[in-house]
Amino acid sequence: MASQALDLFLSTNIEDLKAKGLYNVIDTVQGPNGPVIQIDGKSLINLSSNNYLGLATDSRLVDAAVQAAKTHGAGAGAVRTINGTLDLHNQLEEKLAGFKHTEAVIVYQSGFNCNMAAISAVMDSNDAILSDELNHASIIDGCRLSKAKVIRYKHSDMEDLRSQAKAAKESGLYNKIMVITDGVFSMDGDIAKLPEIVKIAEEFDLITYVDDAHGSGVLGEGAGTVKHFGLSDRIDFQIGTLSKAIGVVGGYVAGSKQLIEWLKLRSRPFLFSTSQPPAVIAACIAAVDILMNDKELIDKLWKNGRFLKDGLRALGYDIGHSETPITPCIIGDEVKTQQFSKRLIEEGVYAKSIVFPTVPKGTGRIRNMPTAAHTKEMLEQVIGVYEKVGKEMNLIG
Ligand SMILES: *Cc1c(COP(=O)(O)O)cnc(C)c1O
Repeated sequence: MASQALDLFLSTNIEDLKAKGLYNVIDTVQGPNGPVIQIDGKSLINLSSNNYLGLATDSRLVDAAVQAAKTHGAGAGAVRTINGTLDLHNQLEEKLAGFKHTEAVIVYQSGFNCNMAAISAVMDSNDAILSDELNHASIIDGCRLSKAKVIRYKHSDMEDLRSQAKAAKESGLYNKIMVITDGVFSMDGDIAKLPEIVKIAEEFDLITYVDDAHGSGVLGEGAGTVKHFGLSDRIDFQIGTLSKAIGVVGGYVAGSKQLIEWLKLRSRPFLFSTSQPPAVIAACIAAVDILMNDKELIDKLWKNGRFLKDGLRALGYDIGHSETPITPCIIGDEVKTQQFSKRLIEEGVYAKSIVFPTVPKGTGRIRNMPTAAHTKEMLEQVIGVYEKVGKEMNLIG
């Protein structure tokens, strides 16, 4: 028999989410997750994926995956440290190190896992972490896991970071101090002020940690935010994901040889969770090859991003201050945001609402993710639907 306490906890809290407009219904995509998707038998223009370059459905990745499954099998068979390190894993790590301009790379099963792994492998209860208040949930959880003192600084506020770094350093309380930030903030599309962060870090001997999940494949000719600013040799930890622009699944940490050596010895998701299967690794290798040799997809992504932003701005929407293709359309009220998204979907545009706790309360938004795979016609259609629904709901004039 189910626990009564559990039943009460679940039903009360689920009802509460529904009442507050925070209840998320999960839709099922029938078939591939491309620029047009099928949901409930209906074709919709997809503006909700992180598949920035359209690589998730690219035939070159699919072929590489099929081939590797045939030569290496369906699964890797073990954790990396026992005998789950296949030649393919080493190839991917070497390729990524070249791509990121760092000495070495370690690959994990997901970007989320990178943050579970890397922060707690070097930080402990005698240390402090300066963390941007809008950092991704996996960074927040990774910091908690380390037991270090977490000091939040105001979003991209360099004066606040500097004064908190100074106070932490001068307190003499901590062995090590780290500063940690998203490279690109996923809900607003703004870029971390890495040149200033590096300067502050060098002044106070901070360890620098950039989670570039949304920058990899997008900025710096694909190599990410750190490369974009020319700081490849001045950031200690660069986290990347293989799940967004790369189009598959997984994550990696790029850094010095010694750092990667330590993570291979001590980071727990590497030691205690089975490595990625051959098909996944081979598809990632194919994706990185494409990124290193062909900048056209990245150009197309940015062109599409600009087109969509210009269109929505011209209609009178608040699209925030994104500096990347991420295009938020800020509505505010959670319930209204969800109604708006529902109407967009009914009109053939799959653009999901994002509300608290993913973004602060009262800043509900539709987050539009244009990709390189969208055509101009698709985006024109999207802008037309935004006009129709926005006027109908009195969101624009
Ligand atoms: C998406 C994201 C992750 C998680 O990456 P996965 O590979 O999907 O697990 C981690 N950090 C940031 C900043 C992200 O945006």
